[in-house]
Amino acid sequence: MQISIQSLSHQYFTGKTTHALEDIHLDILQKQFVALIGPSGCGKSTLIRLIAHLISPSQGKISIGKFDPKQAIENGQVAWMAQSPALLPWLTVAGNLRLAERFQRGKGRQQLSVEQVLERVGLADAADQHPYALSGGMQQRLALARLLLQDAPIWLMDEPFAALDELTRERLTDELFSLWKDFSPTVMWITHNIHEAIKLSDRIIVFSEKPGTIIADVPNTIPHPRVESNPDFQELLSKLRHILHQDSNGN
Ligand code: ADP
Ligand code: MG
Repeated sequence: MQISIQSLSHQYFTGKTTHALEDIHLDILQKQFVALIGPSGCGKSTLIRLIAHLISPSQGKISIGKFDPKQAIENGQVAWMAQSPALLPWLTVAGNLRLAERFQRGKGRQQLSVEQVLERVGLADAADQHPYALSGGMQQRLALARLLLQDAPIWLMDEPFAALDELTRERLTDELFSLWKDFSPTVMWITHNIHEAIKLSDRIIVFSEKPGTIIADVPNTIPHPRVESNPDFQELLSKLRHILHQDSNGN
C-alpha cells in the first residue's frame, strides 16, 4: 500500500469549530490515478493538505509507504500542485525551475534537467520569459514542469486547472494524463468536473457534504481513450451524479 489512511478526522478551530473530515479510511495503491470529487467545502483540500503535511490531523493516521507525511515530504516522496503556481515574479521561467532544482538536489533525487522538463511541457521557447508574461495555462505548465523536476512518486493535485478556460483546461488535462502514463506516479487529483474524473482516473472517490466522509469508492475500468459516446462512460456518469444528488438531498 502506498498511501494508507486510517480513522482520519480533522477539525479547524478558528473561533468556531469546523468539522472538515470525519473518519476517513482509504488505501491507495502505487501508480493509481485517483479522482476525488464531492461538494464544495466537504474537505477534499483538507485531505490533500494533510497528506502533504501542510497541516496535521486532529485524529487518525496517514502512512506513505514506511513514512509519516512529514518524513515523506522530507524524503521527496510527495509533490503538491494547486490552482495557483506560486512563482517568483522576478525570476524567469528557467530561473524559477533552477531554484526548485536547488531544493531538489538536497533530497538527492532528480531524473530530468530543467531543459528537459521545459521541453516536456511545451515551454522550451518561454524559458527566458518572466511569469507575468505567461498565460494562466502556461503558468500551470510551468507548475507541471516543477512537479516533474521534483521527481516524486506521489502527485497531490488540488484542482490545478480549475481557474483556466475550458479549452486550456482540456489540453492540460490531456497533458496530465500523458505525464501519468510516461512517469507512472500515484496521483490524487481533486476535480469538480465529473467528466474529467471519468476520463482520467482509474478510481473515483466521492465525498459527502461537510464533514466529508467517503460515500462511494468507484473503480473505473473503461478502456482508453474514453469517449463520452461510450455507453459505459454514460452509465458511470449517471451513477456518480445519482450518488452526489442523493447526498445533497440529505439521504
Ligand atoms: P473542499 O476542498 O472540499 O472545498 P476544504 O477542505 O477546503 O473543502 O474545506 C472543508 C471545510 O473546512 C470548509 O467548511 C472550509 O470552510 C473549512 N476550512 C478549510 N480551511 C480552513 C481553515 N484554514 N480554517 C478554518 N476553516 C477551514
Ligand atoms: Mg478545495
